[in-house]
Amino acid sequence: MSNPAPTPMMAQYLTLKEEAGDCLLFYRMGDFFELFFDDARVASACLDIALTARGEHDGDKVPMCGVPVHSATAYLQRLIKAGHRVAIAEQTESPEAARKARGSKALVNRAIVRVVTAGTLTEEALLDARTDNWCVAIGEAAGAVALAAADVSTGRFQVITLSPDAVPAELARLAAAEVVACDAGAFAAAATTLRPRAEFDSNAGEARLKRQFGVATLDGFGQFGRAELAAAGGLVAYLDHTAKGALPFLRPPVLHRAAGTMAIDAATRESLELTCTTGGQRKGSLLDAVDRTVTGAGARLLAADLGAPLMDRAAIDARLDLVQWLHDDGAMRERLRASLKAMPDIGRALGRLAAGRGSPRDLGQLRDGLDGAWHLGERLGDGGPALLAELAPALRGHGALIDLLRRALVPSPPIEASAGGYIAAGYDLALDDLRDAGAGGRRAIAALEAEMRSVTGIAALKVRHNNVLGYHVEVPARAADALMKPDSGFTHRQTLAGVVRFNTPALHEVAVKVSQAGAHALAAEAAHLEELTATALADRERIAATADALARLDVAAALAERAAEGGWARPALVDHACFEIVGGRHPVVEAAVAKAGERFVANDCRLSESSRLWLVTGPNMGGKSTFLRQNALIAVLAQAGSFVPATEATLGLVDRLFSRVGASDNLARGRSTFMVEMVETAAILAQATPRSFVILDEVGRGTSTYDGLAIAWAVVEAIHEDNRCRCLFATHYHELTRLAERCDALSLHHVRAREWKGDLVLLHEVADGPADRSYGLAVARLAGMAPQTVARAKAVLAKLEAGRAKTGGIAAGLDDLPLFAAAREVEEPAPDPLRQMVEALDVDALTPREALDTLYRMKGIV
Ligand code: ADP
Repeated sequence: MSNPAPTPMMAQYLTLKEEAGDCLLFYRMGDFFELFFDDARVASACLDIALTARGEHDGDKVPMCGVPVHSATAYLQRLIKAGHRVAIAEQTESPEAARKARGSKALVNRAIVRVVTAGTLTEEALLDARTDNWCVAIGEAAGAVALAAADVSTGRFQVITLSPDAVPAELARLAAAEVVACDAGAFAAAATTLRPRAEFDSNAGEARLKRQFGVATLDGFGQFGRAELAAAGGLVAYLDHTAKGALPFLRPPVLHRAAGTMAIDAATRESLELTCTTGGQRKGSLLDAVDRTVTGAGARLLAADLGAPLMDRAAIDARLDLVQWLHDDGAMRERLRASLKAMPDIGRALGRLAAGRGSPRDLGQLRDGLDGAWHLGERLGDGGPALLAELAPALRGHGALIDLLRRALVPSPPIEASAGGYIAAGYDLALDDLRDAGAGGRRAIAALEAEMRSVTGIAALKVRHNNVLGYHVEVPARAADALMKPDSGFTHRQTLAGVVRFNTPALHEVAVKVSQAGAHALAAEAAHLEELTATALADRERIAATADALARLDVAAALAERAAEGGWARPALVDHACFEIVGGRHPVVEAAVAKAGERFVANDCRLSESSRLWLVTGPNMGGKSTFLRQNALIAVLAQAGSFVPATEATLGLVDRLFSRVGASDNLARGRSTFMVEMVETAAILAQATPRSFVILDEVGRGTSTYDGLAIAWAVVEAIHEDNRCRCLFATHYHELTRLAERCDALSLHHVRAREWKGDLVLLHEVADGPADRSYGLAVARLAGMAPQTVARAKAVLAKLEAGRAKTGGIAAGLDDLPLFAAAREVEEPAPDPLRQMVEALDVDALTPREALDTLYRMKGIV
């Protein structure tokens, strides 16, 4: 059987689908977007909508499903969330135009107008107001790597230079919504959007950027390397591709060296739950415990700040000064937060306008936001900390635009422009006239209605309006006969169940005037909308700067609020590598403990160059992890420019932060957990510097006791001798406490516990010295283990402990080991004494007696 040629529509569809590639194709047909073939199967399953069929292709029915255009956004959202990309094919001409141009059966032209992907969204409904939405491209050139990241919902654009092994950490920091790489690059991975290599060419990238920003040289933005040009160029090319030439708003790229911020790798970020928990939730994260921002932009900036603590003391202190100022002046803070709260998200409104998806409401938001910023600037006045003075000009900069928008727009403009009604009266006299004509026409129609009622004597006669008939006369069916007569002056239009509809020449005449005036008014409003949008966009960089300034104020006020609420202290940043915390607390655990009606026990931590390493022992559930983490979080908060949950804090800047948790806490991960633990620990030993801060929680736990102890021992030694960083090491290997004797910058600490009337009381208090015992059985009882099992364990323990007393335990003999540094200097493996002995023997010179003696001695060695 030969296959008939595809219908013209199907041929058009297939061409567009080929262009769409691996995107789902939304094919516009009237009021629906339709999907066909596999796209239909995928979408119907993902969206839980009916899969139907339409026509035939190659002898088979064509699977099809569709979504209504007016509710397409909600469906798009679900598809994007599920990891799909969607190409939108719109009708690019009206059916009438197609018929006029190419005959009655002509197919409407269609084209892909946009590719919707997770990283290129601007729609309010598709975005989380409190989260940045980064699309990140990875560029490589001449052995170097760079990232370019853009959030097209706000136009932010940054380019980041980094070493190849830092790429995962940086992608984790940005929490990229979408990663784009070239199809031949080293970073091309399954989840990445792959683009042609040519788009990542650094020369082409440079040209593209110059064109995009209308500059002859990029020097004004910074010194870009080849990899940076490749990344930025690749990103702009991709955004251009998804927007089909209507490139969204991008601010000039800001060049970041990753070295300017505290390095936090992906595993540490996850383990410390900075911006989301290991379960992927915002709730329970540090961000959630700290966030008191009142605007979406503020929340986004706070997340970014916590994800990238600074390394520049002056910059940190500038932030802290502003927080302090708002902390100390509670009334000012209240007022500031109240006005910020009422302000719209101008950054994202601007993003929508720039992407050509703006609405009258977005302009209204700009007006209200900029106006709010102006008043805020006035109220904050001059003086105050330096950062405030730096932000002030951005707040008070848009008088003319505010004035224009205030005159042009009604107080609350609609989202939908098509019905008009958003341009204020008095802004355009011609528009006012058209509206008057419309209103006059409507009054004339009301007069006509009254007149027709009295002439015909039909009291129920009404003039109505609908989209099909326009204005018409409607009477009940029983009264219609009189009007049906040819000389009645009424023309019959339609008979329905209970009513009959007519027209009259007089009504027609007025109706035409009304509708013409209406159409002209709409067109006039649309022209104004376009012009106002263009005027606003001409100022877009300054508006974006205002949005930034507002976000910075919101963050500072929120941190001040949080500090006041929790009695937090301003950290003092110093030059030397100390870490002195008095009365430190863990903000997340503290909240959880308080919820349970208990009190969180604050703990001190005092690390210095001569006491760099704290070994923390004590029972399970005693609070070791909490103590370790709270100190790491304090470092993050302090360098992000926040007060910290402590009564006093003095710390030297941390260049790299590491957190590792022994394997058994991480069972959720797929890989061999011990392997992961070792890989991650190896990374710390390779990277931690004397300015770093490391917390290690039960490292070595994921393997047998002997292996585990040996590894933990070696890791502590290496950190102490080699890395020389500040480190908190929690362990249940009591044997490690012996390291205190040989490592002079290591000190012993424990979380206190007490047995009271046979019950274990965990005091959660960190005290000096080693733990006196492990309390494992008491913890088991606390956990509800059956009394007979606990009793049996007690008996086994007694036996084991008796053995330990005799042999010195599993760590017996470790004291004889050479020091770590000394051990490392021996390059060859230690020689085998037996072999040495055999090599030294002169067999021919031995007497039988000596030979026998030698044999005995050999036996003694093995
Ligand atoms: P460990 O690491 O020693 O097993 P954790 O740090 O996980 O112990 O703490 C166990 C539980 O003890 C926490 O979930 C919390 O409820 C409580 N806790 C820990 N530290 C404190 C503290 N400083 N004050 C009050 N409760 C605490």
